[in-house]
Amino acid sequence: MSLSTTIETPAVKYEQPLGLFINNEFVKGSEGKTFETINPTNEKPITSVHEANEKDVDIAVAAARKAFEGAWSQVTPTERGRMLTKLADLFERDSDTLAAIEALDNGKAMTMAKLDVANAANCLRYYGGWADKITGQTIDTNPETLAYTRHEPIGVCGQIIPWNFPILMWAWKIGPAIAAGNTVVIKTAEQTPLSGLYAAKLIKEAGFPAGVVNVISGFGRVAGAAISSHMDIDKVAFTGSTLVGRTILQAAAKSNLKKVTLELGGKSPNIIFNDADIDNAIAWANFGIFFNHGQCCCAGSRLLVQEGIHDKFVARFKERAAQNKLGNPFAADTFQGPQVSQLQFDRIMEYINHGKKAGATVAIGGERHGNEGYFIQPTLFTDVTGDMKIAQEEIFGPVITVQKFKDEAEAIKIGNSTSYGLAAAVHTKDLNTAIRVSNALKAGTVWVNQYNMISYQAPFGGFKESGIGRELGSYALENYTQVKAVHYRLGDAPFS
Ligand code: NAP
Ligand code: MG
Repeated sequence: MSLSTTIETPAVKYEQPLGLFINNEFVKGSEGKTFETINPTNEKPITSVHEANEKDVDIAVAAARKAFEGAWSQVTPTERGRMLTKLADLFERDSDTLAAIEALDNGKAMTMAKLDVANAANCLRYYGGWADKITGQTIDTNPETLAYTRHEPIGVCGQIIPWNFPILMWAWKIGPAIAAGNTVVIKTAEQTPLSGLYAAKLIKEAGFPAGVVNVISGFGRVAGAAISSHMDIDKVAFTGSTLVGRTILQAAAKSNLKKVTLELGGKSPNIIFNDADIDNAIAWANFGIFFNHGQCCCAGSRLLVQEGIHDKFVARFKERAAQNKLGNPFAADTFQGPQVSQLQFDRIMEYINHGKKAGATVAIGGERHGNEGYFIQPTLFTDVTGDMKIAQEEIFGPVITVQKFKDEAEAIKIGNSTSYGLAAAVHTKDLNTAIRVSNALKAGTVWVNQYNMISYQAPFGGFKESGIGRELGSYALENYTQVKAVHYRLGDAPFS
């Protein structure tokens, strides 16, 4: 199979690389295997890409190691920053193409994909700005000695990303790792390999030396497992399910104790108090769950509404959700496209059926939308109790539960009652309520009077079983640097 193909989407026609990107070249996998990627809107294959096995991971890691010890270590921080900034410019130049690839391969609405690409570019540019500002400290330990610290890159970073925000997760992982002077082997998700490969082409154009960023397509069980257990990868960063996150941590422990950061799932509460601005709260509750078809780790999948406005709120929410336009991701007015795969579609429908059997009421939705593509109607469950599976487990689809609460204490109690702690939100006009509840929620991100508004400038990550470490902001740089203390003596030995 060839190493590139022309793809025509309803928005653009472009040249799609298909190979593994190793050492700044697109190459075939060592076994010559390929796999198909599916268009979730029509369930048909788009194209096939070359597949990486353990041996290809070894080859990519060797390239990354050579670059780390060689050419890349001679590049100044200013130059690293300049390359990241150039890459951000190229993302903006090709934003229509990148967004179209996301709409095609993932099924997300093109209008939303454009926001992903803009955010990815901003994230790369932000970390470009950090590259020459990573500094240590000077510590006067006593009059005869001093110590200084160096924030050194860790080395070769293995990065495993999911399919829900393919190009955005690519940027979140590449930006801080490269700014800090590391090299990277990144594996895209098997469902959405195309945008990461297109971005690899831009890596070369931005002027990065060979081997600094290597992008491979492949399966988690093979290529992902090879990354997490590799003896010459110094750090692994993973975004995906909690189940796989545990496997990665175990593989790291059993191999070379590589540093691990995990960004996992959530079951985030979106809490609406009686005094909330109801129009705004409805808009954010709708966006909080149905944005990206509910395929957000931080989705506001548990609506908690205070009893004084509960019934009115639920009625209004139903009306609002009914207005969400489902359909072809390339149509200008589409808000919700298909779920990413048959497997995800089946998982979500299974949860919906489980909710019905457990005694919850389907207030809206609950069914497939149309008869082609993995579309699911926006779904709201009422009559939900906290112990139900649909109120405890991550569904990762357009499905929301609503529960009623009496007062602040009960809202906090229900809010904190899952094993997850990724995000939460509070809607109220009372400043004291907002601050007290934000402080009491066990979550890495709390939104007040909004939802899903992530900034590359602020940290993002999970409490409890939602993860380890923080991405974004200056905090992400801590994942990609290791601190060395150098102790220096100015005078004679204090003893002979
Ligand atoms: P997943 O299995 O966790 O996949 C995420 C990434 O991990 C993919 O690149 C995957 O490769 C890789 N992977 C899978 N098994 C691996 C292993 N043993 N070792 C190393 N890497 C491995 O997620 P999924 O099955 O696609 O989705 C299942 C559920 O995960 C969703 O319903 C949702 O609840 C959750 N999820 C969360 C996020 C998030 O943003 N936190 C994102 C996606 C999914 P493949 O591409 O071959 O699978
Ligand atoms: Mg696909």
